[in-house]
Amino acid sequence: MTDNNHMKETISDKDEQSDEKGGKAFLLKGGKVFVENEFVESDLLIKNGLIAAIGPDLEADGDARVIDCAGLMVCPGFIDIHCHGAMGRDIMDGLDSIEAIARFKATQGTTGFTPTILTNPLERMRWAAIQAKIAMNLPLTGARVLGVHIEGPFVNPNYKGALPEADILLPNIYEIQLFLTELGDAAKIVTIAPELPGAESTIRLLKKRNIVVSAGHTDCSYQKMVQAINWGVTNLSHTFNAMRPVHHREPGLIAAAIDDDRVYCDVICDLIHVHEWIIKFLAKAKGLDKCIIITDAISAAGMPEGEYTLGGQYVIVSGRAPRLIDGRLAGSVLTMIRGVRNIAEKAGLGMPAALKMAAENPARLLGIFENKGSLAPGKDADVCIIDGRRRVTHTFVEGALVYEMGVTEIVRPNLDSGKEQQNGDNGR
Ligand SMILES: [Zn+2]
Repeated sequence: MTDNNHMKETISDKDEQSDEKGGKAFLLKGGKVFVENEFVESDLLIKNGLIAAIGPDLEADGDARVIDCAGLMVCPGFIDIHCHGAMGRDIMDGLDSIEAIARFKATQGTTGFTPTILTNPLERMRWAAIQAKIAMNLPLTGARVLGVHIEGPFVNPNYKGALPEADILLPNIYEIQLFLTELGDAAKIVTIAPELPGAESTIRLLKKRNIVVSAGHTDCSYQKMVQAINWGVTNLSHTFNAMRPVHHREPGLIAAAIDDDRVYCDVICDLIHVHEWIIKFLAKAKGLDKCIIITDAISAAGMPEGEYTLGGQYVIVSGRAPRLIDGRLAGSVLTMIRGVRNIAEKAGLGMPAALKMAAENPARLLGIFENKGSLAPGKDADVCIIDGRRRVTHTFVEGALVYEMGVTEIVRPNLDSGKEQQNGDNGR
């Protein structure tokens, strides 16, 4: 109790004295800093919520805390644009749950995310979206809520995946307008099936409002997707999952998305939803600049295997795969750092590509790359530090240290025994 009070006093004193945006200054000393897609031995100074400087031999200001980063990777924080829950909590359950999920996500290197509103009765979707909007402006205790991703309800029931079929609707411009009026700038992404009647006007409206339109849960043909991209679609939601597959005589929307540089492809990188070779194939075809790692994680993320729910449906998690009773996959239990490891190691694309797909690309898709998604002076200090076992040791969100691993647990590959080299660090 006393300790807490003391800490509060100290922090608020500092706020008033030196920091405009709040928070302590930190000097990350001697790490491998990921700058412009490569690792550079460097220091990184965090001040007033921003990256103040990156370079050799930076000096700590009077009260800055120095963190020894020798042997560690200093990386941009991850941005997860598709997430339904964690720690037994569901985004749809409101503010408390969103905050708990945000705290968990920070422990896994995520510094920003768009809580994803599952297709449900419209009233419930609206309520949950407003809760996520409120969460955007709360004091930081975990990852920053960057806005809301609305998954449906205007999707194709034939590719519903784990979306409750009874709540799926045809596009309705009136409903969308109601949503947007309430959400304002908080609306960031809408997943929609472009082949549905009425989709064109909805997509054009969303595009006009600067909202990312993502094709998903869809049976869209190649030709229709070519049109939809011109209407404003710029992303594919969980590419390959819950959509018409690629066929050599009917290429489908995936081929159209791969072919057009305006479009990003996000992928669930748990290696259960999509085989690692297909991710590698996608990265090669689409380019590393346009692929995005997502989790599509549900409440079971960070929890033991067992029974959970997703949007009111019963889900069983076994072997890292959450499934509905009929066996259909229902989201994942993936975390962003595990997705990064999967891409770097199992898909063989290496750390620089994985980090780009987890930080820069989603920031560019959301139109926030000016402030987030990479390490550069003047940008938000959204930083995660990764050790020799590719685990997150520290996470900073807008300059606030929101997660820190115990110092004795941290593995430093260049300094500790040679066995850690087997883990293939060094940013290959
Ligand atoms: Zn989802």
